[in-house]
Amino acid sequence: MDNYKDNYNEAMGSMTSYSIATDIPLEIFANICKYLPPSILFKLTSVCKQYRKYLISLENQDIWRTSRLGLLSYPKLPPPPGMTEQDYIKLTAAESGCRFCGTRKSEIKFYWMFRVRCCNKCYKFNIG
Ligand SMILES: [Zn+2]
Repeated sequence: MDNYKDNYNEAMGSMTSYSIATDIPLEIFANICKYLPPSILFKLTSVCKQYRKYLISLENQDIWRTSRLGLLSYPKLPPPPGMTEQDYIKLTAAESGCRFCGTRKSEIKFYWMFRVRCCNKCYKFNIG
């Protein structure tokens, strides 16, 4: 077995077969992912357990960081301590609207203390 497949198995857990999409060196897979927008990375985490395990690993946060900094116009600051890149990207996705009611029409604010993105009405109802 090729060396990269050994490394891949080690990183991804036991796999008995390789699909075309995963039969590439892990380094190349990671580099491809870095140039995909976060929205696609989130979709990739739903493709299979191996992708999910690899992509949400704390060791692979650099993939999300590179994607976020290169392909999103915001946020440029690093995530708060203890927050993963994925959670940070989801939280700051203002176009997703209020976390509680889903509205996109009223002003959406980030309340970092509570790590939540919501409209003023929901803030008063749920937090304030
Ligand atoms: Zn709301």
